Amino acid sequence: MDEALLQFYTSLDRSLFLDTQYKGLAKLDRPLPIGLGQTISQPSLVLYMTQQLDLKKTHKVLEIGTGSGYQSAFLAEFCSELYTVELLSELQKQAKERLLGLGYQNIHYKVGDGSLGWAEHAPYDRIMVTAAPKRMPLQLIEQLAPRGIMILPVGPLGWQELIRVAKDERGEVHQSKLLDVAFVQLVGEYS
Ligand code: SAH
Repeated sequence: MDEALLQFYTSLDRSLFLDTQYKGLAKLDRPLPIGLGQTISQPSLVLYMTQQLDLKKTHKVLEIGTGSGYQSAFLAEFCSELYTVELLSELQKQAKERLLGLGYQNIHYKVGDGSLGWAEHAPYDRIMVTAAPKRMPLQLIEQLAPRGIMILPVGPLGWQELIRVAKDERGEVHQSKLLDVAFVQLVGEYS
């Protein structure tokens, strides 16, 4: 485990990303509601997924599902530029305020359907998806750079497989299954 990542994980206060009534539960390693039917993952899963992404300070990263902004902080901390897409403007607004408050200047925000990626800034060295499509979103694979890695849950509502997609230098795609997980649905073309 990367020491810097572990240190960041232990120092980042999850209560900053939660509404008042859930702040007291921030330290529990479990998912919590963030409003509008959405949830923040348990911290250990955010740590695991970030670790699987193998981030470098030079990386351009795409995140789908900004949500509370908690996962975004992990990504922004360890990459060069983060592009994050959230469907619900209310959640995006709050997340942006929190992340700006924490001092992150390398995050680019968009409200919209992230199942189509963010083509304008592609390709991305890394892609993190924190809402689940039923099948693999082709646009996201297209927007992944050679030697790129994408982590995403894929499967039906209720439970999914967490998948690691690696694109090699020739553009060939390799997939491996990491864990069983339960994410909220990725709304849009792949839901
Ligand atoms: N990573 C977040 C949790 C994400 S919950 C955190 O750390 O808090 C999943 C998020 O994906 C929700 O905010 C939901 O609104 C968003 N979402 C669902 N479908 C989406 C889509 N098609 N494009 C962008 N965001 C989407």
